[in-house]
Amino acid sequence: SRMERLRERLSRSGSLGRGLLGLLTSGKIDESTWDEIEETLLLADLGPSATDELMENLRRRIQVISTEDPVAIREALRQELVNLVDPTLDRRLAATVRTAPDGTAVPSVIMMVGVNGTGKTTTVGKLARVLVAENRSVVLGAADTFRAAAADQLATWGSRVGVETVRSDRDGADPAAVAFDAVARGIETSADVVIIDTAGRLQNKKGLMDELGKVRRVAQKALHGDEISEVLLVLDATTGQNGMQQARVFSEVVQVTGLVLTKLDGTAKGGIVANVQRELGVPVKMVGLGEGMDDLTPFDAYGFVDALLD
Ligand code: GDP
Repeated sequence: SRMERLRERLSRSGSLGRGLLGLLTSGKIDESTWDEIEETLLLADLGPSATDELMENLRRRIQVISTEDPVAIREALRQELVNLVDPTLDRRLAATVRTAPDGTAVPSVIMMVGVNGTGKTTTVGKLARVLVAENRSVVLGAADTFRAAAADQLATWGSRVGVETVRSDRDGADPAAVAFDAVARGIETSADVVIIDTAGRLQNKKGLMDELGKVRRVAQKALHGDEISEVLLVLDATTGQNGMQQARVFSEVVQVTGLVLTKLDGTAKGGIVANVQRELGVPVKMVGLGEGMDDLTPFDAYGFVDALLD
């Protein structure tokens, strides 16, 4: 399965788990071992606040069960990690035709945002692939009109996975107009989902804010009064604190409803999942595990923690 592949890749790259479980081979945890556990969690990008919470809860749990059995201690650690990534969060994506207030059948609209290079366009393609495999009909909107190459790249993904891409025929067209056209096309073709790719130039925060805000408003206008279903923020898991900083800026610019962490195949620092969820207060919904079209998978808290600890 995909989770097994993640497990394998993470363990090949030297996992968080290998570090942690290596520290928990003998039952007695002394202060220097606690320090090493803390360090390992911070190295895995869990972040200071999640690390503190995990340390405190783990200490308490071990005290309560009063054990020196390494197997029980590892199980306690596993439980605490599961709690941190929170299996109770709703990670489903809206992906079906809906009825707008005026009775019109409209698609679910997913807006994809994130800094250039994080894997946004690739993720749009991979997400379309996932939805098509579930028998959903999908339309893509190339609302990153700043670079012609961005729309070309998206259209290439569109034809690869067999879905239509709505784009402008000229560079520098209004991104919001493309978003409007994509939603309109989605309504016209009775699509289940329209996925809108957007620009990610972080250099100009005000410009980006205006642009994404307008794309959102105008796409919404095309929806006959229905709401945009999702704004997914794409983050590169290999960028650590830098990625966290980007996440903060984007969540100030648009109201994010979910996260996609890409390039988890290239890092042992999976702790960023708990860190970013906690910071932004929205769930990680999907993770990217490679460059291929089948390398996007729904996030599963239990499988993820098992992968981390393997
Ligand atoms: P954008 O600028 O944010 O749209 O980023 P792209 O979609 O162009 O992706 C940037 C690079 O990251 C490309 O080379 C992608 O193939 C690669 N990429 C995207 N997602 C993943 C992933 O989950 N794992 C790996 N290893 N590479 C990825």
